[in-house]
Amino acid sequence: MSYKTGMRTMLTTIVLTFGFVLLLVPLLPACNSGSSAGRQDAGGLDATLLPADSGLESQVTVLETLDIFPFNDDLAPGQPTVDIAFYITELGPLTWAELASNITRAKRILSEAGVSIRVTSALRISVPASWQSLDPDEVTMPTTPEFVTSDLYAHLNELQTRVTLRNEAIFEAITSYFPVQASGVTAENTIHVITLNEAPIAYYDWDGSEWSYQTAPTGGLSFPPYAYADRIPAGIRGVITLSFQQAPFFPETRVLSHEIGHKIINVSHEGVGVCPAFAANGPELMLYGDGENIPSTEAGRWHRERLLLSPFLYTLEQGVAMFQDRYQNGGVYRDEVYGNYIVSPICPPETK
Ligand SMILES: [Zn+2]
Repeated sequence: MSYKTGMRTMLTTIVLTFGFVLLLVPLLPACNSGSSAGRQDAGGLDATLLPADSGLESQVTVLETLDIFPFNDDLAPGQPTVDIAFYITELGPLTWAELASNITRAKRILSEAGVSIRVTSALRISVPASWQSLDPDEVTMPTTPEFVTSDLYAHLNELQTRVTLRNEAIFEAITSYFPVQASGVTAENTIHVITLNEAPIAYYDWDGSEWSYQTAPTGGLSFPPYAYADRIPAGIRGVITLSFQQAPFFPETRVLSHEIGHKIINVSHEGVGVCPAFAANGPELMLYGDGENIPSTEAGRWHRERLLLSPFLYTLEQGVAMFQDRYQNGGVYRDEVYGNYIVSPICPPETK
């Protein structure tokens, strides 16, 4: 029995996701009721009163500018590129050194699919201790339980998932330290990876007769366009949180690659012969496990084709970043930016 298998057996893993997180809930019922009891103030301010431009930037201190050179010495000229900025919090779950294997693996996986990762910046920062625990998202109770098994994307649209004003203010304060890029790439066009101890998800569980609101911790949360669409401010739509020290039996070096996949392939957990699901295993990057494959063609649910159409990608022309396209509908699964690279019906009836 492998270590991972042993851990799974021992911990009674419950894997619950909205398809956009790596979520592992050992033992427990890490789920809470739908109260807002876990909501904390944002650095001493009442979270419910925070405006979008809350001015929390002053509560962020840049402790160190970290060395990014080792990650950018192999950029392929002319190749579609995605920029990623890192914010390593002082009291957070990971060090910059501990993230290195995740970054090099993500660079290799995407490079094999024709996309370069450029690390634009990495900052070690200090933030108020209370920020290490984010709020669960705000979600709306859905009305059609059949979507859970027949069309996860329709289900997610019903949830109308959105970040709280407190989370929004925290993300905006941290990403305000994103340095100006000579290429013209802005914070809006960049993926921002922030390490924080707790980034819970919220969802509705259907027990066959009624919905119940649940929350659960995550190892990584990607805030993907297909789930948030234009309900997340453009300036922070690129945020990904990493908390994965809490998931010792997950293949940790793949977490970043998988979360980036949610963001720029813009699909849930799905793969060859696997319908979008809350949780599903398989050999592809967008399934649970340790897979790296980004499949193409309709059989591969157009993952590679969707990746190459991501509005986060640009190519340099005379040193200036030229972005290929914009989402037409906030980046929902069926966004027009993907043309025909949409699988429909999402899930054949026989797989329900
Ligand atoms: Zn995932």
